[in-house]
Amino acid sequence: MEAEKDIQKTTKCLNCGTEFEGNFCPECGQNADTGRFTMKLIAENLTSAILGRDGGVWFTLKNLVTRPSSMIVDILNGKRKRYFSPFPMLFFCLALYIVILSFTNEHAFKESFYDSQIEFKGLDDSEQSQTEVYKLFSQTLDFLNNHYTLSYIMTLPLWLLGARLCYGKNNRKRYYWAEYIITIVYASVIVVLFRCLIKLTYFIDKDLSLQLGTILSPIITIVAFTACFKKMLGFSIAKTAWRSVLVTAMYYILLGIIILIYVIISVIILAKRLQYI
Ligand SMILES: [Zn+2]
Repeated sequence: MEAEKDIQKTTKCLNCGTEFEGNFCPECGQNADTGRFTMKLIAENLTSAILGRDGGVWFTLKNLVTRPSSMIVDILNGKRKRYFSPFPMLFFCLALYIVILSFTNEHAFKESFYDSQIEFKGLDDSEQSQTEVYKLFSQTLDFLNNHYTLSYIMTLPLWLLGARLCYGKNNRKRYYWAEYIITIVYASVIVVLFRCLIKLTYFIDKDLSLQLGTILSPIITIVAFTACFKKMLGFSIAKTAWRSVLVTAMYYILLGIIILIYVIISVIILAKRLQYI
């Protein structure tokens, strides 16, 4: 009797209430051995999230740097549990970027804003409206630069559109939009991590850091997209790289068009206000 009890050791899942045998709930996947939270458990959870082989951040980053293309094909083909999810990973990297940014040029936006306020005094109406347009443009660019993380998330659809347009008709048919998004988000992790490294050069040379950021950003993006998309698309490295150049160009063109539309609309609203008040 007692031996039989040992073999049929059923557990009631604490998450969904299903009765089951084994280490994991077959309905919701929760661990059978779920006790109360202890400091030891938290330490174990954190350690396995960061260092663990199964879905750990470090393991995923290592794969993303050493074999990005193969890792992404793995993930698209269903080998998912071993890798950390793309979106949390990107948010983690963007958070890291914000931390580094807070030590470097956090007040750049305020400075340029006050500058444009000062030069605004003592001008007649037409000069004033010209300055307003200029101010609008520079403030929009300032905003995008200083809210890099926000603008990155907001402009992800532009990368997606660029990739859909430039990576060929066959691949458009072969893959879903969402599968392109997953690859783009992993590529973005590489881009953001490199931007973090570039930002760190601020502590060595402030001007160098800004110049590196401007020059290297498009190059890093092209490299990251080439590295992540190559195997998935089935192109040669040269072809993937060339198409990635087009994707990047397309991104900047689309972004330019959107900023232009925004400025034009703002100018129209502004002109109406100046006319009627
Ligand atoms: Zn369950």
